Amino acid sequence: MRVQFCGVRGSTPAPGPDFVRYGGHTSCVALAHDGDGLGPTLVLDAGTGLRRLSAHLGDQPFRGTLLLTHLHWDHVQGLPFFAGGDREGAQVRLLLPAEDEHTDAGTLLARMMSPPFFPIGPHQLRGDWQFGLVPDDTFVAEGFTVLVREVPHKGGRTMGFRVSDDHSSVAYIPDHCPTALGPGPAGIGEYHEAALELARDVDLLIHDAHLRAEEVEAEGFFGHAAAEYAVGLGALAGARRVALFHHRPDRDDREVDRTVCRFAGSPVPVIGAAEETTLAL
Ligand SMILES: [Zn+2]
Ligand SMILES: [Zn+2]
Repeated sequence: MRVQFCGVRGSTPAPGPDFVRYGGHTSCVALAHDGDGLGPTLVLDAGTGLRRLSAHLGDQPFRGTLLLTHLHWDHVQGLPFFAGGDREGAQVRLLLPAEDEHTDAGTLLARMMSPPFFPIGPHQLRGDWQFGLVPDDTFVAEGFTVLVREVPHKGGRTMGFRVSDDHSSVAYIPDHCPTALGPGPAGIGEYHEAALELARDVDLLIHDAHLRAEEVEAEGFFGHAAAEYAVGLGALAGARRVALFHHRPDRDDREVDRTVCRFAGSPVPVIGAAEETTLAL
C-alpha cells in the first residue's frame, strides 16, 4: 500500500514561508495499491489538500472512493476544487457519516456546498458522482478492507478508519477527543476500545496531534488530542509507526519539529506527517 499525504493541517489552511516543510493544506490522505499502476483510488477526507491529488493524476480522471471522517470545513473544503474528480470521465463514490436517519448524503453535503455559500451544489460536479453514507462496520472499497468506528470529537459524528489490504494496514484518526471519555492513565484521554480496535497492530497510525499534553487542559474543549496521546495509543495498540497529523495552523515548521523531537526515544517510531510525502507500507 502507498500512503500519500496531500494535506496534513488541521482547522484551516496555513500558507506562508514558515509552513513549507510540513505544508499548509488541510486533511487529505490518498491510498494506492502498490504496483497496480492505477494511482490512488481510495482517498481519506477532502480537505484543501485534495487539490494536490489532481496533479498526480496527470490528465487522467479520478476513479475511486472518497471517504470522509466527518463534515468539518477542514475535511471537505477541497471537494469543489478537485479537478481530477470534477471532469468528464471521472467516477467518484463519496461516502460520509450519517447525522440522522432522515437526511441523505447529498442533502447533508449540500448544506455546506450550495448557494449562497458556494456557487454550485455537489450534484453539479462534472463526471459521475455518487453520494452515500459510510457503513457502520467493515466494508470493501477499491480493493481495501475498511473498518469503521465512531470516535469522540466535537460537533457532529466523527469516524476513524482502519484500512488494510493483503499486505499492510493503516489507521486514520485525524480528529479525536479522547478526554471526552475520561482523563485516562496520563490525564490526556482514555485509550478506549474503538481507538484501540482501529490502531491494533497497524503498520502506520495517522492520528490527531493538534495539541501537546500541556495544552489539553486549556484547549481540550476544541475536540482534539495531544501528540502524546497519539504515541501512547500507538504503543498500546502495537502500531509499528505513528504519524502525527492535523498540525495546528499556528504551529510552524520549527514548532512541529519540536513536537516530533519529544518522541526521539519512543519505542514506536514517530514522524510528523508532511505534505507531498509518500510512504510505502
Ligand atoms: Zn479537523
Ligand atoms: Zn473536526
